[in-house]
Amino acid sequence: MPRRVRVPELPFRRWFTYREVTDFLRALAASRPGLCRLDSLGQSREGREVWALTATDFGSGAAEDRPAYLIHGNIHAGELAGTHAALHTARRLLTDRAGLDLLKRVAFHIVPRLNPDGAEFVVTTSGRVRSRTDRSERMPNTLYQEDVDGDGLILSMRQAHPDGTFAADPEDRRLLVRRRAGAKGPFYRVFPEGMIHAWDGGDRIRVEGRGFDWNRNWSCDWRPEPEQHGAGDFPFSEVEMRHFAEFIHRRPNLFGVLGYHTGPAAVLRPPSTGALSDLDAGDDRTMEALARIGAKETGFPVVPVIRYHRAQDRDINLRGHFHNFGYQHLGLFVFEFELGTIADSAGISTEEQFAISSEEGHEAQMRRVLRWWDRQRPRDPLFRAWKRFDHPQMGRVEVGGLLFRHQANQTVRALSRIAQGTYRFTLAHAGQHPQVALEEVQAEAVGGSVVRVRARVANRGTLPTHVSNRGRSLSRVRPVRVEFHPARGATLLSTEGHVEVGHLAGETGSRMLEWFVSAPKRGGDVCENRVMGGAGGPVRRIVRREA
Ligand SMILES: [Zn+2]
Repeated sequence: MPRRVRVPELPFRRWFTYREVTDFLRALAASRPGLCRLDSLGQSREGREVWALTATDFGSGAAEDRPAYLIHGNIHAGELAGTHAALHTARRLLTDRAGLDLLKRVAFHIVPRLNPDGAEFVVTTSGRVRSRTDRSERMPNTLYQEDVDGDGLILSMRQAHPDGTFAADPEDRRLLVRRRAGAKGPFYRVFPEGMIHAWDGGDRIRVEGRGFDWNRNWSCDWRPEPEQHGAGDFPFSEVEMRHFAEFIHRRPNLFGVLGYHTGPAAVLRPPSTGALSDLDAGDDRTMEALARIGAKETGFPVVPVIRYHRAQDRDINLRGHFHNFGYQHLGLFVFEFELGTIADSAGISTEEQFAISSEEGHEAQMRRVLRWWDRQRPRDPLFRAWKRFDHPQMGRVEVGGLLFRHQANQTVRALSRIAQGTYRFTLAHAGQHPQVALEEVQAEAVGGSVVRVRARVANRGTLPTHVSNRGRSLSRVRPVRVEFHPARGATLLSTEGHVEVGHLAGETGSRMLEWFVSAPKRGGDVCENRVMGGAGGPVRRIVRREA
């Protein structure tokens, strides 16, 4: 017998580079080849693989024949914790009793790093990017981020300037605060560390090219810029998102999607535009009940995307956002975990973060974060001291400030606890999968060569085969049908072989079916029944005549 290979440990020490993500996924797939396989959705813009791990018990069935649950992380470059949380779930599914049990019924597709290029930029340099910036066509007088002083990091540059909009914080000299009327200098203008393309030497300096936010590039409610910042040129115009959309639309068996982000901690649920009343009332209740499981398991509040904003602001409309796509276009219950940022690790709640209504409030929060960070004494500091540097273009500047890769995420240690909760939520949500079965299958001789075949097609899962009420109305999720394929030598006597059953409710949805067949051979095959459509997975069953 081959030696059992150990499932690799997932260290919670630092965020992973592309190489480390790749190595971990390969080691995972190699350790349990009967339970998971590693594929690529395709290549990123810069030629990295967008990995997709499929986890299911291949020994008892194929992934396409099971209801499927999709997890994605790190669509936003700086949200590295999402990759780690997704990898944690992948590992637990392969090692826990509850996970292994679920793999017998459900296929998981896990895309831990949807944006490998952007994430690599952040994890290796600590530079700042949402999903992507356009660097292919460089504009004059525009600063592009770069490690100019050669210390391996992209930090901030501050330069004394009479019109500078920042000043050193009198309470914590490390921080920069907004210049206020009557304040004493020196005043600074502040840029990311970088070089200015085709600079004319003047004061007007723009920062970076056009920004793209891939969570505004989904097809539902998509709007072009400037109506929706970061939208891209058209739905799925970004190659990684296009790969992902094709992957999703090839899988009618999907019944749930979970995305990982980092922002003030929350369990996000639809809608991302409009009002809660735009959703089917029954779907709204189911969605809320599922989200509350996420809240219970993580301690995060449940927030509809439209309300994920500061207390004093009006509800937001995010166009081309994942939530409306997942619910309106796929008909699924979809969620996102906002895993928190460094402010959450410092003990500042989502409610407190969203209550901040002024620059002063934001500055006070940053002081609190830095004081807390100082007490942690971590080896990789959140703040780098300002250091004098002779910039090849700008002359004397100081380089330093906060590290974006730490600011944008909770500490890795805090995530190790949170990821347990998001995993338990995943088990609970995925555990509600629809489950189609053929029951009470009989082939009974009723005289001569005539056989009566009976079977009950049933959904014994929790969710209906159309998943949501919205899903019932979409062509994507096809109604359940039972196909009748006669065996060699057998002839259908009933007027109808294939039966359109329609969708089946959860748990008790079933229908008894009956066919009369001429099948002369005793003990031989009569027919094969195939249950197709719905999200409960296809089922195939060969029916034999009793000897
Ligand atoms: Zn995000």
